[in-house]
Amino acid sequence: MSTQDAVCGGCACGAVRYELLGKPKFSFFCQCRQCQHLSGTGHSAAFLTDAQATTITGKLQFWDRTAANGNVVSQGFCPTCGSPVLNKNSGMADSFFVNAGTLDRPQELKPERVLYHDEAQPWDMLDPTKL
Ligand SMILES: [Zn+2]
Ligand SMILES: [Zn+2]
Repeated sequence: MSTQDAVCGGCACGAVRYELLGKPKFSFFCQCRQCQHLSGTGHSAAFLTDAQATTITGKLQFWDRTAANGNVVSQGFCPTCGSPVLNKNSGMADSFFVNAGTLDRPQELKPERVLYHDEAQPWDMLDPTKL
C-alpha cells in the first residue's frame, strides 16, 4: 500500500525509509536519562507501531543494551547519517518505537503522554498538562 495518506518517514540522508500500514498506536514524549543520551537532547518524541505492519527499506544498524528490567533494547540508526530512526524492545517484540522527527509529516503526531517527566533537565521545558 502506498497512498498519500500513508504514514511514512526516514532518516536525514534518505538511505533508510519506512512506511506503516495503518496509523501509529501510541505517541509520547520521554524525558528519561537514556532518551536524553540517545536523542542527544532533552527528550525523545516517539510513537509505537505494529512491527508486522511496518515496512523498512534500507539498512538500519542496531546498538543493543540491556535495560534495568532485563529487556534488550536495540537502538536502530542509519549507519550513513546517524539519525536515530527506531528502537526495538525484547519485551515488546511485535512493536517498533519510531522517532517522530523522522516522519515526513511530523506535524500530524498527537503525543498523548510525557514519560519520565521527573528525570527532565531544567532546560527541557515540556509541560505534560499542555498536550
Ligand atoms: Zn541516513
Ligand atoms: Zn526514555
